[in-house]
Amino acid sequence: MPLYKKGNKIKMVKINKEKCNGCGNCVEVCPFGVLEIKNSKAVVKHPEKCRKCGACVSACSNNAIKINMEKK
Ligand code: SF4
Ligand code: SF4
Repeated sequence: MPLYKKGNKIKMVKINKEKCNGCGNCVEVCPFGVLEIKNSKAVVKHPEKCRKCGACVSACSNNAIKINMEKK
């Protein structure tokens, strides 16, 4: 069962746009193509594909990515 469902408020990955400098490291390391750079900031393009692997969090040197573990 997917952890992300359309229509609810779950956001598996949250980008802090204040901290993000658009370096693109998170986009490169994500194995599932969840993230992309838009207007020089990372955005969560396909949240339903996120597997919470944490690779993007580790890749971000600005601590701009958080994984929200809330179930609702
Ligand atoms: S937690 Fe993993 S799957 Fe989810 S966006 Fe980050 S790198 Fe991609
Ligand atoms: S790795 Fe961090 S600073 Fe770089 S684009 Fe991703 S969220 Fe932004």
